[in-house]
Amino acid sequence: MGDAPVQAPGGDSLMRVLVLAFLFACVSPVEPSRRIVPPPAWKQAADWVWEHCASKVRERPIVSFNRIQFYAVDGEVVKARGERWVGYWIEDRIYLTLPALADPKLLVVKHELLHAMTGMAHSADWYQRPGTLFWDCWVKAEGEHGGT
Ligand SMILES: [Zn+2]
Repeated sequence: MGDAPVQAPGGDSLMRVLVLAFLFACVSPVEPSRRIVPPPAWKQAADWVWEHCASKVRERPIVSFNRIQFYAVDGEVVKARGERWVGYWIEDRIYLTLPALADPKLLVVKHELLHAMTGMAHSADWYQRPGTLFWDCWVKAEGEHGGT
């Protein structure tokens, strides 16, 4: 599909390799990974994503937080679809790399939660599109933490 590694709005260096995540269950899963139990902060992140982002386009989450399966990927990137990602979403599964897991802002966690809760993908250049759901949500999440 040609989604290139990208840099997110705000230029956070963590996000030089990014995110996306739009795949169907028929596609083979990503790198070796292990199921993890989401920490309480991720539930709070999901509530935040719902309130500030997802509820603007959905009446209720496509996948509720409790149904989402989280996986930790043992590495810096998820290699899938010929690209490298920091986070990855497939239906009710979210894959997170070490940089995504280490980010105290939980930007990638929130981004993937937005995918899962809305069931929506985005264009490959979402990070260059102010005023769109995924761009605005990312910037809002950064602002929550005091910005740069
Ligand atoms: Zn995405």
